[in-house]
Amino acid sequence: MKNMLNKALFSANLVKNKIFRTRAPLYISYLVNHSCNMRCAYCYGTFYDRDEYVMTTVETCAMIDDLSRLGMRRLCLIGGEPLLREDIKDIVLYARKKNVECVLNTNGLLVEKNLDWLNNLNHLYISFDGDEKGHELNRGKNTFRKVLDAIIAASARKIPLGIVTVITKNNLDSIDYLVDLSQQYKFNLNFFNLISQESTAGRQAVRILPSNEEYKDVFRRIKNAKAEGANITYSMKALDFTLRWKDYTKERLIAEPDFKYPKCYAGIYYCVIDANGDVFPCPVLMDRTKPAPNVLRDGTRTAWERTVNTNCKTCCFTCYLDLNMFFGLDVATITGHLKEKLRE
Ligand code: SF4
Ligand code: SF4
Repeated sequence: MKNMLNKALFSANLVKNKIFRTRAPLYISYLVNHSCNMRCAYCYGTFYDRDEYVMTTVETCAMIDDLSRLGMRRLCLIGGEPLLREDIKDIVLYARKKNVECVLNTNGLLVEKNLDWLNNLNHLYISFDGDEKGHELNRGKNTFRKVLDAIIAASARKIPLGIVTVITKNNLDSIDYLVDLSQQYKFNLNFFNLISQESTAGRQAVRILPSNEEYKDVFRRIKNAKAEGANITYSMKALDFTLRWKDYTKERLIAEPDFKYPKCYAGIYYCVIDANGDVFPCPVLMDRTKPAPNVLRDGTRTAWERTVNTNCKTCCFTCYLDLNMFFGLDVATITGHLKEKLRE
């Protein structure tokens, strides 16, 4: 019910901004650090290997204050690995005190150590790439059992749980396994396309990018599973748009597309903030839109106001297609999300 109320408040804020034609940072993804205890085959940001400034707790809380004044309703904490940050619990509790919906994405390795406070999150997302072979080819040796144990432990504590799976050539056969597991441990499934074009690190992952035929086949199977009742977060429409993408080696369309895709609201209703305070329209564009406005140098309001997506019109990523349809007030997408929150 708590999550349902948040979604309703989020929708009301969105409608207000639509009516008054205003921009507002309703949804923020915040990279809390640049450290990671995994070495995934496809890490598009080499987040485990950066040596850049990371905002302090005080700077982060001040930014949360500013963002909530500007209209933030949902804060998604990503990394790196967020649970490596010693003050991560304080950041979560601070955001929750501001009545901001707070979710966190983790690779799962430190979940069991943090079980006592993770229930303060509105949602915990654990990255898990399928059966043992598929998961470990993507995310490294000896990680499968540890992450599966984290999922089981979080589920036993009744933490609202989602699993994020990046689709590569390595795990195309894992869909049925993940659907079965989601029914057993009560989590939702979020299938991500591989980001392989937009950064030097990402481009190294191109060797595990599924072919066009493989992508289409896997998205067809995901759609069928959803039609049969699997708890898959994204709407049928978003899955359809991904399925109909012409060439997955071209992830974004910069000119007007020749077929109708949802308008992109990056820089209008959402953005991503790096650990050093740099602001980008969306995670995919982080390498493409530098130098970026910065929260510490420019102030949060000015940094947000200067964050504009002039770079692309639409993309093949199901998560952003779904988000953009939500921001475009697509009725089926909004109803789907509200139903999802009711199910939690
Ligand atoms: S867990 Fe995330 S940040 Fe860490 S290596 Fe994997 S993709 Fe990169
Ligand atoms: S279309 Fe929007 S969400 Fe997709 S990559 Fe471009 S800016 Fe990001």
